[in-house]
Formats: sequence, structure tokens, C-alpha cells
Amino acid sequence: MNNTEFYDRLGVSKNASQDEIKKAYRKLSKKYHPDINKEPGAEEKYKEVQEAYETLSDEQKRAAYDQYGAAGANGGFGGGAGGFSGFDGSSFGGFEDIFSSFFGGGGASRNPNAPRQGDDLQYRVNLKFEEAIFGTDKEIKYNREATCHTCHGSGAKPGTSPITCSRCHGSGVINVDTQTPLGMMRRQVTCDVCHGRGQEIKDPCQTCHGTGHEKQAHSVHVKIPAGVESGQQIRLAGQGEAGFNDGPYGDLFVIINVLKSDKFERDGSTIYYNMNINFVQAALGDTVEVPTVHGNVELAIPAGTQTGKTFRLRGKGAPRLRGNGQGDQHVTVNVVTPTKLNDAQKEALQDFAKASGMNPVHPKKKGFFDKVKDAFDEK
Ligand SMILES: [Zn+2]
Ligand SMILES: [Zn+2]
Repeated sequence: MNNTEFYDRLGVSKNASQDEIKKAYRKLSKKYHPDINKEPGAEEKYKEVQEAYETLSDEQKRAAYDQYGAAGANGGFGGGAGGFSGFDGSSFGGFEDIFSSFFGGGGASRNPNAPRQGDDLQYRVNLKFEEAIFGTDKEIKYNREATCHTCHGSGAKPGTSPITCSRCHGSGVINVDTQTPLGMMRRQVTCDVCHGRGQEIKDPCQTCHGTGHEKQAHSVHVKIPAGVESGQQIRLAGQGEAGFNDGPYGDLFVIINVLKSDKFERDGSTIYYNMNINFVQAALGDTVEVPTVHGNVELAIPAGTQTGKTFRLRGKGAPRLRGNGQGDQHVTVNVVTPTKLNDAQKEALQDFAKASGMNPVHPKKKGFFDKVKDAFDEK
């Protein structure tokens, strides 16, 4: 069978190494991550990449996939050890034998004793609007797989050492012959004595029961630089999960999520603010106080300002993350027409109309449609 779809999803060739697969996966999962990529279809892509990676990153699932397609990889492994949920032995007959030979399989091609880096972790941190602008220090807490503090990762009880596995002689794999509907199949599977490690632990560590890892409540300080935006990531090397065979820890990716402000909007280093002024201020001009993230500043509204006019407050925006200086704040004014006038105000406006040479203004008595309109206008 020629199953290439999962390879195509990751953009790698059929004989790609685990390194190439991991690299391609990291790149694509960052590109399509739903926290970062809001384009339509990105989440779907993300799931497809996840699915492909889950299969191809595991040598047994990958072998099953290469030979039998997605059904082989999923059917045989979907439910974990012994999980055979998707298949009914009676209707599939001999297939159970094929799949059972993949159970608990181990890396056929890689050296089980080679150091391997631990998994990367992602942590999504919420920042207040101002925290993102000025930067902040955060302590983040999470659980991770750490190197066992008792055995320092060897898995053996202190005072003892792992020995080379007597069954697989350190290779981590053994050959198994299986009768299948397609004939006798010889496959390499993970050694059932050492579970692929190539080493046998006669006397396991009491803390980690031989795994070399233990759960750890971990915390780390992260310095958030001024001017960050949603979707940006900060990589903290070595703050992910413990490695294998003395391999290094994985990394922690802190993903920034900036919360909305009830006053301001922001796009990059530019901050936007909408401000109401009354029609007298608009007509005669005025000096008003405008809030900015840097505190209130005075803004001169020139006489004759129209609604929708935007003013720029230089340097009152957010810092530019790369480069110098700070962005601006844009202030858009909205001229508010008064809705309830008393007699003196009405008279003044009538006088204004007269002085302007306008025809006398005759407010209409309210008809049905005006009342309906009022009802819609009221909040
Ligand atoms: Zn231990
Ligand atoms: Zn072994």
C-alpha cells in the first residue's frame, strides 16, 4: 500500500527521519496554532498536522500506517495498550493478529540508549492591556515530567545500576514472526523485558518505579518585554519536560494573550481612543484632557472641528518591540448633538440660527414615525 497523506500534511518525504518529522511538525503546529492563526481553516489544518504527527512520530504507528494506512495506525493503537476499540474481531478476522504485533512496539531504527531531548511544553499567559505595553515579570506554575530526584534519571535504586538487557542485548528491539492473512511477517518490536531502553533494571527506584521521571510542580519567572502582542511566543530553554538517557530538558513556549482594554484599542505600537465632545467645543474650540496609557494629556481642539476628525498624540502609544521609541495615540472625536434642550437653550439656538441668517427653525410636532425613531435611538 502507498500511504503518503500524513507525510504530505507535514511536508516531509516517506523516509524522513524522526528529526525531520519533529522539525516539520513544530513549524506547522506553530503556524496553524489556533491561539496564533485566526484565519479560517487554520484550526482544521492544525488538527490534521497533529493527527499526522501523532502517527508518524511513533515508529510503530508509523510502520502500521505505512503498511495499512490510517486504519492500521488508529485501529491498532487508538485505545492505548490493548485498546482495540474500533475493530471487531469477528468481522475482521485475522487482522487482530496483525495489529496485536504492533502493541507496545519500540523504535526499530533508533538507538534506544541515545540521549533524547524531553518534550516541549506550551503555556498561555494572559496579560492586562497595560502589562503588554510596559512589560512585566510573571511567575508561571505548571506540572511537568522532571528527572527523578532519587535516581537522577537512571531508574535504578540508588546503589544499583541498570544492566544491559539480557533479552535484546541492548538493542531495545526483538524480532517477532507473526502469521497474517498476507503470509508470515517478521517484524521488529520493542523488547518486552526492557521496553526499548536496552537496559534492564533489576532493582527499580522506589520513587519513579524505574521510569527515571517524576511529576513535578514547577514554577519559572518569565520577563515579558514591553510592547508584546497576542500570539507572540517567548521560548524558555530547558523549562519543558525531562529528557531520556541523560538527554536535555525540552523547552517551554510562553504564548502571549493580551486582554482587551475598556478604553483603548491597539494595533502594534499605535493606540486608538474615541472621545465625545459637545458641539460647542467643536464649534468654538477647547482644550480637553485625554487619557493615555502614560497618563492624561491635554489636547487642543481647534475651532470648527468636525465629527470623525482624528488627532495624533505623538509618542503616547506602545513601545515598538523592534526598534526605538514609541508609537502614537490616535484620538478620534465624536461631536455629540444634545438630545434634551431646555427653553433657554432652545432660544439661544434660535438666536444662533437668526444670527447665521438661517430660515427660522420650526421644530415639528412629534408624529408616529418620530416616536418610533425615538424608541430605537434610546439606549
Ligand atoms: Zn527514580
Ligand atoms: Zn531488552
